[in-house]
Amino acid sequence: MSWEGPGFVDHHAHVLAVSAGAALECGDASDLTGLRDHHRRVSERWSTPMDEPVRPLVVDDGLRGDLERGLARAAELGLVELTEAGVRDWAYLEALLALRARGPLPVRVRLLVASGIAEPGRMQRTGDPWLELEGVKFYADGWLGSRTCALRQPFADQDGDIGILFLDADTLARRADPFAEAGWTIATHAIGDRAIEAVLDGYERLFGSDCPQAAPRIEHAQVLAPDLVRRMADLGVVACVQPSFAVADARTARAGLGPERAEHAYRWDVLLDAGVRVLSGSDFPVAPLSPLAGLQCLLTGDHLDGRRAGAPTLARERAIALMSEERAGTVVLSDDPYQMAEDEVSGIEVVEARPRG
Ligand SMILES: [Zn+2]
Repeated sequence: MSWEGPGFVDHHAHVLAVSAGAALECGDASDLTGLRDHHRRVSERWSTPMDEPVRPLVVDDGLRGDLERGLARAAELGLVELTEAGVRDWAYLEALLALRARGPLPVRVRLLVASGIAEPGRMQRTGDPWLELEGVKFYADGWLGSRTCALRQPFADQDGDIGILFLDADTLARRADPFAEAGWTIATHAIGDRAIEAVLDGYERLFGSDCPQAAPRIEHAQVLAPDLVRRMADLGVVACVQPSFAVADARTARAGLGPERAEHAYRWDVLLDAGVRVLSGSDFPVAPLSPLAGLQCLLTGDHLDGRRAGAPTLARERAIALMSEERAGTVVLSDDPYQMAEDEVSGIEVVEARPRG
């Protein structure tokens, strides 16, 4: 009595970094004061979180084993493909290539290389369905919870503070140019409306009328507004959103943005209605890696334990279509996610994930 359908795809996670025990761009995601101080320090030295150096990893059996276990865990959760959003050490690619030489990986892996280590000369397509370089990740602003995302008007609960913009439109366009020229996907972290606007300006400058074809991405795209949604649709910019963030952030978003702006935030339904191409990614470890947990948040707008959050929701067909892709493989589940009660979807068991090789 199992159900089979398109496999779940995670377009933005940090599975490899977590598996390797590496420091994350966010440090400890629950320490919001620490995160704000970190963002300020990084901004003061004209750097971005994707350009900060990290302690180099050693490629050995330990690292290869850690990565393989991390990917196997992702497959157990029903994923057939995941994108590591910001690879900050070439050791990951080296270790994955060695694993791949032994056979198929537990899930298909895509890599977005952090702007700090990306070099056009070093980046080569593999042409391998199991392991492919996707593009380069840039980082335009901070986070909402830490009050460091870049806003057009001050935070409702922070006197006059409009957050931190790490990259302006010109800098992004200039830095992304050699990668765009070589055909790599450009993906930029932008959460606040001022950052989203700057990234759209940068993409417009960089790609001009070729923008829809290049399909550059905005990661998170949380503090939306009607003018930004229209521009994303017109430019063909892709939004990569996090299914559980609207729920997890519901309280802090209302406090930080005030009721009017909060009304337009996390509106994946509005993006889809406008014709924007939307991808989904957990942003694990900031949120759970389980796609079924994310799916339940999208359906209910409430926390997994039933606590009310009142976040925007998506209709079931839309939500499942957003999170799964036939081209990447199939998943076998214990129950039909279209029939299960919305607040019980996260309890569905994964029987098997079958990535397409
Ligand atoms: Zn992330």
